Amino acid sequence: MKQQYKSYKQTCEFLQECVINYPDIISIKSIGKTWEDRDIMLATISLNVENADLKPAMLYTGTIHAREWIGNELAVSFIDYLLKNHNSNPKILRTLRRNTLYIVPCLNPDGFEYSKSHFSFWRKNRRDNKDGTFGVDLNRNFSVGYQKIKDTASNVYSGPAPFSEPETMAMKNFVDTHENITIALDYHSQGNVFFPAHKFNHEMEIDGTDLNTICANMNFEIHKATGRQYGIHRGKPPTKLINGSGREYYYSKGIMATVVEVGTRNIPDFMQNMKESIDENIPALLRTFGEAQNYSKHAPKRVQNFHIESYTHDEVTLSWNYEVNKDIYFQIFRNIEDKKACNEANLICETYKTSFTDIQLQSGSAYYYYIRAVNNLTRVKSPFSPRTNIKTLLEPDEFSKTIFPNPNEIGYVAQKLVETNKKHFGYNSLFIGVNETKGISYGVLQFNLDNIPQNAIIKEACISLYPLNRVNAKIEKYGEWSISFIDKQSVAELSDFDQINNAISIETLGQTIPSEKLTQGIWSHWNLNSSERDILQRQLEDKKVLFKLSGPTELPEGRDSQMMMFDIGYGNFGGGLHYRPRIEIKYTIPSIEVVVESSKITSVCTNMMDESKLVCGFDENNNKIYGVMEFDLEQLPNPDETVITDSYIQIKNKKATKTTQDIRYNVEFVDLENITYDNMRNRDRIEFIGYEVSRTDIQKQKTHKFIFDYFSCLALENVHKTNKKAKFVIKPTSSDIKNHIVEWYGKDGENSVKLVVKYIQRRREPVSQISNLTYIKEKNKIKLSWENPKDKDFVGAFVVRNRFHPPKNPLDGDKIYGGSDNYTYDNFGSLNIGKYYAVFTYDNVPNYSEPTIIKYKVEE
Ligand SMILES: [Zn+2]
Repeated sequence: MKQQYKSYKQTCEFLQECVINYPDIISIKSIGKTWEDRDIMLATISLNVENADLKPAMLYTGTIHAREWIGNELAVSFIDYLLKNHNSNPKILRTLRRNTLYIVPCLNPDGFEYSKSHFSFWRKNRRDNKDGTFGVDLNRNFSVGYQKIKDTASNVYSGPAPFSEPETMAMKNFVDTHENITIALDYHSQGNVFFPAHKFNHEMEIDGTDLNTICANMNFEIHKATGRQYGIHRGKPPTKLINGSGREYYYSKGIMATVVEVGTRNIPDFMQNMKESIDENIPALLRTFGEAQNYSKHAPKRVQNFHIESYTHDEVTLSWNYEVNKDIYFQIFRNIEDKKACNEANLICETYKTSFTDIQLQSGSAYYYYIRAVNNLTRVKSPFSPRTNIKTLLEPDEFSKTIFPNPNEIGYVAQKLVETNKKHFGYNSLFIGVNETKGISYGVLQFNLDNIPQNAIIKEACISLYPLNRVNAKIEKYGEWSISFIDKQSVAELSDFDQINNAISIETLGQTIPSEKLTQGIWSHWNLNSSERDILQRQLEDKKVLFKLSGPTELPEGRDSQMMMFDIGYGNFGGGLHYRPRIEIKYTIPSIEVVVESSKITSVCTNMMDESKLVCGFDENNNKIYGVMEFDLEQLPNPDETVITDSYIQIKNKKATKTTQDIRYNVEFVDLENITYDNMRNRDRIEFIGYEVSRTDIQKQKTHKFIFDYFSCLALENVHKTNKKAKFVIKPTSSDIKNHIVEWYGKDGENSVKLVVKYIQRRREPVSQISNLTYIKEKNKIKLSWENPKDKDFVGAFVVRNRFHPPKNPLDGDKIYGGSDNYTYDNFGSLNIGKYYAVFTYDNVPNYSEPTIIKYKVEE
């Protein structure tokens, strides 16, 4: 297997050949010598390579860890690809014209050769530590966060001092003297995951969106090539800082830096896996290479203050600030999931304006917006502004609930750990799949549905799990993970392996996830289809729903593990509430019908009013005659606690008219204090109700329904709130007709005019905002306090943090707290970084109030 990989010597020879064949495009040099006197080779690639240092550049480093051969191998393939195709591929040509690639195929030649010839799993360089041990972990030897450790034998021994090693010193010297470098990719194996640079302080960074997006756009290309999805692990900083890594050093120089961990083994089967890893990374590399110019000093400035101006259940208006510049336009991108690509595939708007309204959105749904400025002359783009997130409002008849399992109702059961299975509940991680020590292992998740009414009509449901780590899913493209509804009657004890193993499955949810798409650091979502929602609906009666999560149950010959870890969100190593598995359910409830009889009817002519009958049409002078219907809304329930979902007026005509003229009648919702003929003619119309009724309609049938639309229902609610009577007018729409009258039943028992109202118990408006929001510093943390409103429908306060703009929506920042207390600590926020906090109140729908905002200022 080792033979197929290029050696250090072969790599050097390859580079020399490239220079002979493509002297205008590639040059090579040694940037330093190793302990064993090998050259650390760096290739520079650009059109007119002699000008390369004047252009924005991407830096590639490979095989800093000796056993991670992908770095060298991919570098050789990428160089070969660029050189061989640059004349035939306009994208490569464009990229090379404006950008430069600095590429160090192998940053650790001594270790690499040692790994190739003696010991495959060697990691460090080959420093003689003079105590019988060898080697320094070069990726712990940079200066940022450098930590000295004593054990020289350790695989992560960091060396006697920062930059004590010739390899890291060579990189430092090169990077320090090449300010044109804007992006750095450090290639490692394994895990199929991106680890973007971090400042490890749990706060948003101005370039956090850029780092995630560079990775997500690479992922987009990888997915196109092989269907695989890499993870992107930036959202949650690793519990321990990686001390002294190259990535953090480059980032400290203002370079967008990420580690790319490729494959599922350090030294995989070359033909089966390595080739695929290379083929999927080449287009990803090319895309990122083209981004180098967008992070250079020639790039337009980042958009400022990109924020939500307003939103409804189906529209969002965004706005931003930018110095006036006629050559700059803006690109807006929209995603419905976190950590997704931003490119031509999700570009929703290009505009020279500084605001944009997005339309036709789904209610109660999350949207992530991105923006960058583009210079129309040079086509160079700006970095991204920090992302803005929003959850749209619910429709007036919708409710939504996010349900988390109780700690004793989420865990895993392993075949070989029967004794300890109980302890796997509410603790750290779910292990799903199979390995040698655990045997087969299933996840168990039970959700409590008490909070959802039994008669709820489920409109949407989505289960989400956070894949934490796939290090133990060691086999490429093997097995799939799925989640199924379990018949609760078939399981008496959730922690019993046999019971879970033999549990009766009602149905497996539509999507299963093959191993190559099971990505760590990116949420997995299962959206329930209609038959799955029906199953969930049936579980409402039992108030609980049980799921089993399964992976592969057997291993191929010679392999020891295909196991995926998901976060439970409980326990010391769980990521807390933010990473806890959840089910989100959007539902409505059946409506209640009230029939309101008319309290007063009046027929209004030019010279008289008649309260005994309901008539409309034309008099002998072709003046209109109006029929007025009044309804007392006292019978309707409290308007603050209900939403009218449907409504109509039902009218019956007494006699069929015999005319052959084209006469039509309609109903208007009017705002009218006193009923007089003059007031009638100058009436304020609120809304039309339904469609016109024609002569032939009246001849065919007696009963006519005038159906309220959305705005008419809203108008009816508003009239109800003001304690006024609802007034409607029926009248002809035609003109130039004389002596024509239709009589309707007014107050005539069961034939009477009726207003039929359907409503549900649900607040339309949020409860009041909190008051007296303040903060203090306590126990080295920021503590926020406020007063909750006295409103009986108040359920809780929701606190969000945003470093860049005041949050306008509960999704627009990092969630700090949700609950009924009147204070919270920001457990992760830094005292040294200014930021905004917003507190929203919510009811049980939930409707969220406008935010109450406080700005945390850093004291000098
Ligand atoms: Zn590594």
